[in-house]
Amino acid sequence: MKAIRVHAYGGPEVLRLEDLPLPEPGPNEVRVRVEYAGVNYIDTYRRRGLYPVPLPFTLGEEGAGVVDKVGEGVSAFRPGDRVAWSNVLGAYAEYQVVPASRLVPVPEGLSTRLAAALLLQGMTAHYLVEATYPLKPKQVAVVHAGAGGVGQLLIQLAKERGATVVATASTEEKRAIARARGADFALGYEGFARVVREITDGVGADVVYDGVGQATFEESLDALRLRGMLVLFGQSSGPVPPFDPQVLNRKGGLFLTRPSLHHYTASRAELLFRAGEVFRRVLEGRLEVHVGAEFPLAEAAEAHRLLEGRKTVGKVLLKV
Ligand code: NDP
Repeated sequence: MKAIRVHAYGGPEVLRLEDLPLPEPGPNEVRVRVEYAGVNYIDTYRRRGLYPVPLPFTLGEEGAGVVDKVGEGVSAFRPGDRVAWSNVLGAYAEYQVVPASRLVPVPEGLSTRLAAALLLQGMTAHYLVEATYPLKPKQVAVVHAGAGGVGQLLIQLAKERGATVVATASTEEKRAIARARGADFALGYEGFARVVREITDGVGADVVYDGVGQATFEESLDALRLRGMLVLFGQSSGPVPPFDPQVLNRKGGLFLTRPSLHHYTASRAELLFRAGEVFRRVLEGRLEVHVGAEFPLAEAAEAHRLLEGRKTVGKVLLKV
């Protein structure tokens, strides 16, 4: 089978399309014929070695496809079932072996393409607004990179909860997309904390959802109200340097958390709940998934170049 492999950490040029033997599912595992792999910003961290994985490895931690073979002890899935998964490395490949406990059935009416576009970023947006900082009506939420994969879903789910959403994005075109998804305000990054204060009559935002990291971290704290919360969930501009907790005190008894999706899908029950919640919203037409770009598996490096070059909007997919 073909797979995109990393033998040395580095830029998009380290991605290599290779032939590998077909993997065999062990006990409680399932082999899936991958139809679509999701491209996520985390894939670039893995490729660069920022979140290190022992070399060599097959990239990608989100996919959807059809069950091909089940290992011993698997009763919940059968060959032919349509499934999706996230947080299991190795999705940039024609076949992937996935623990049965991480597979989610794709409901009737939802394509594997949309399932792969939605699962990881949708469950992320869901836990951010429902669990990390459960948004209430009229609260003010700042969403950075509002035209991105997570950003567009986050805006929609925050609006669904009745919040006022202030999105940021780097270009006017991206800001128009954020507005189209429901953002009440869409700003450039320059001086965003000051604008958030103006919008809130000097009070500040209740929460900032910050997946940009280094470039926005300080100002995200400045955009918050007394006892507001900064949810730092990513670092597309680079990692945030070491930080003095006394700053949280000085800026108004703020809260800071740094969550990951696996903290909010750790049990099978929570994984199925969150996946079900986002799949259902799409099937009911209440959540729009914007696939901004699709590449063949062999062109994964180009997908990474565009994502890191801030040239993408919405979801980036690989068609396998
Ligand atoms: P996006 O589609 O949002 O792409 C990243 C965006 O970040 C860019 O489009 C760009 O938007 C913005 N950005 C700002 N500064 C930079 C920079 N210097 N270089 C590149 N991009 C920059 O990616 P994803 O939706 O996949 O992920 C968004 C964030 O969420 C990432 O940080 C990711 O790691 C994180 N994440 C965290 C999860 C968690 O559970 N903790 C789970 C899933 C994702 P613009 O041009 O508008 O600035």
